[in-house]
Amino acid sequence: MRCTLLPYGRQTIDEADVAAVVEVLRSDYLTTGPKVAEFESAFAARVQARHAVAVSSGTAALHAALHAAGIGPGDEVIVPPMTFVSTANAVVFQGGRPVFADVDPDTLLIDPRCVAEKITPRTAAVIAVDFAGQPCDYPALEAIAQRRGLTLVADACHSLGAAAGERPAGSLASMSAFSFHPVKAITTGEGGMVTTNDAAAATRLRCFRTHCMTRDAQARAREDSWHYEVEGLGNNYRLTDLQCALGRSQLDKLPRWIDRRQQIAAAYDTALAALPGAKPLVRRSDCTHAYHLYVVRLDPAVLPAGRQRVFEALRAEGIGVNVHYIPVTHHPLYRQRFGTAPGDCPAADEAYERIISLPIFPAMTDADVEDVIAALTKVIRHFASRDNSGARLATAGT
Ligand SMILES: *Cc1c(COP(=O)(O)O)cnc(C)c1O
Repeated sequence: MRCTLLPYGRQTIDEADVAAVVEVLRSDYLTTGPKVAEFESAFAARVQARHAVAVSSGTAALHAALHAAGIGPGDEVIVPPMTFVSTANAVVFQGGRPVFADVDPDTLLIDPRCVAEKITPRTAAVIAVDFAGQPCDYPALEAIAQRRGLTLVADACHSLGAAAGERPAGSLASMSAFSFHPVKAITTGEGGMVTTNDAAAATRLRCFRTHCMTRDAQARAREDSWHYEVEGLGNNYRLTDLQCALGRSQLDKLPRWIDRRQQIAAAYDTALAALPGAKPLVRRSDCTHAYHLYVVRLDPAVLPAGRQRVFEALRAEGIGVNVHYIPVTHHPLYRQRFGTAPGDCPAADEAYERIISLPIFPAMTDADVEDVIAALTKVIRHFASRDNSGARLATAGT
């Protein structure tokens, strides 16, 4: 048993990262300066997108993408319930109505058939969430979007470093939103990015992140350099030069870190294959999985004690398991404002009762991985034997 809790995710910072930030501290620019464009162009190249626009968080990235897609009052946007709340909040910020389409029970990715069923004359966009780090079925979603004239946005906050065939996450939808929170694939403390191939969308994104302020050509010609116009309701969603320098430095390590996440996932796969009542989510063929999360689904027929007991026993072993996610439809904001309820999306609701996320991050040592596997094996075997289903584990609660 571990004496300190192993978290489910955390950042890796090396001396090159520290030096990159210190260099900016000593420079002329703390916020918008040369590091923003450097990070943006390196990021765009990495995900094979024409444009990348840095913003202050993943939430800001989603909000800016919906602004750029022209979402406003009266518009419906289809989202999955199995995601962090900011996916749906982005729709609400723009005055739109989130409409929840259920996920595939095997992958927990939005099910294109459920999306098709939820389309109405008011539907304007779909946000697909690359849950746990594997890309959604974008060809199927894109076909629906094109047929119905919808904008397809990817919430790629889990999938930096993932790919569908040879195409990286970030190039799979009209716009893709990323997060650089410390548990994500790379970090800037807080931060986010939107990628797109659409130059007009990129202009709208850049405008939105700094109050929709523009200097028009006439003002420049008149040389009254103080002149600007506010064309719409924007925000301060800028990412600082300090953060962009960190992001640029982190990006170099991404391929190595994704390899390490995949190694850890492979070790978990092997361990789970030998355990009753606990299975990983299904992997899509022909996709590179970025393994932001490693989600295990528990089988209540084998583990009648239930997810809560398994969760508590793993925490008692020092393993920082977590649950991703409480379906958005369960939250009071959505119930009260949009009339959602548990039961709306049966596959997501059923999965929510059974899933736990195991620790996975690149700085985990082989010994950490062994600790997780040993604890999981002990706890699952304990609860899988019917005789013990009501008994306490020796270590639980100590
Ligand atoms: C992390 C995350 C977000 C929000 O990103 P922040 O940078 O924390 O604002 C949105 N959607 C998903 C799926 C996420 O995992």
